[in-house]
Amino acid sequence: MENRKVSLETLMVMESKEQRTIDPHVLPIYATSGFSFQNIEEGIDAFLNPSEKHLYSRFANPTIDTVATKLARLESYDADGDYFCLLTNTGMSAITTALVSVLEKGDIVLTQPNIYGGSTELMQRILSKFGVTIETIDLSDMDLLSQKLTQKEVKLVYFETPANPTLSCLPIEKLAALAKEHNAISIMDNTFATPALQRPLSMGVDIVIHSTTKYLNGHGNGMGGAIIAANNWYGKIWGHYKLLGTNPSPFEAWLLHNGMKTLSLRMEKHSYNAQRMADFLSEHPSVDRVNYPGLTTHPDHEIAASQMAKFGGMMSFELKGGFESGKRMMNEVDICQLVPTLGNVDTLILHPASMSHLHVAPEIRRQAGISDGLIRMSVGIENIDDLIADLDKALAIS
Ligand SMILES: *Cc1c(COP(=O)(O)O)cnc(C)c1O
Repeated sequence: MENRKVSLETLMVMESKEQRTIDPHVLPIYATSGFSFQNIEEGIDAFLNPSEKHLYSRFANPTIDTVATKLARLESYDADGDYFCLLTNTGMSAITTALVSVLEKGDIVLTQPNIYGGSTELMQRILSKFGVTIETIDLSDMDLLSQKLTQKEVKLVYFETPANPTLSCLPIEKLAALAKEHNAISIMDNTFATPALQRPLSMGVDIVIHSTTKYLNGHGNGMGGAIIAANNWYGKIWGHYKLLGTNPSPFEAWLLHNGMKTLSLRMEKHSYNAQRMADFLSEHPSVDRVNYPGLTTHPDHEIAASQMAKFGGMMSFELKGGFESGKRMMNEVDICQLVPTLGNVDTLILHPASMSHLHVAPEIRRQAGISDGLIRMSVGIENIDDLIADLDKALAIS
């Protein structure tokens, strides 16, 4: 056939490549669902070695993988061995993918009452449908944990430190070692601390989870999650990931990449500001109690100090005036924003009793440590004197 000119409508549809570009300095967004093979041999090779080539973006994508590799290197910075990271579209989907990958029917999961609410619901409402039993215990009680671990069905210890709402901390190395001793896996959600402040893989934890929506992105403009584990977990977890379809969009992975460049600077400032805020609130007459692991009065201060480089930006405090004071304070702040998320550059506050936990019965709320006057604060990186002035004004009225 002669080399005939294609029609206008075909020209509109055909993909084209710009040939003049050399390596971009900043990570480009590969907004493509598939990757073209030059010939059938390349296609066969890609399908035989799907983890080594990019072929379909639900399996892997150059933008997503570049960001994932960076996060794997951060989380495993001082751990022995080789690690991978899979990025997901939310923190919840990272947790789902990890749990579904490692658990089988009949397994028992040991966890604590105060993990992220979504994680608790996922386990109790969804995993339980597939024959997994969830036992919620006080994981700071090592004797109880050791005794529970003697049940041979215990496959997994799942925990978070620091954890909402009181910023209670658990000894990571001890929990990971106890789990290992009883042939159980340990999974830890490191969302609050990030690898800038705490690296659980180096303390023996098997799998680390993140909601990258929070500090890792840091700017509140994208959602995401991450699973980081040693390479021997790769086949199993990736095998589930590609079938569950929990991959993020390349654009959101790219936003995460931008955020991660300033993670260290941000965590330093978050920690400094939160400590100053905690000191200020501790002295305030309207405040009953301040929960911040950086305060020497926090019951888990010693544990936190032994495993965290700094104490992070999350804190909570209780107002003496209870429910009504909490509500009033929400309306009197100007710089602090009422937003039900955390880990952003700006300061976010939440009154769980009137916001996130409004529909939870007061007794259940109190069991979870959420008193009527409890305020949760994700301290941002603004000038701390401005933040303290904002709180001082709001507390004077509430
Ligand atoms: C927000 C959060 C999650 C869930 O992450 P999403 O990105 O909202 O799905 C899980 N764990 C912790 C500790 C969180 O703060």
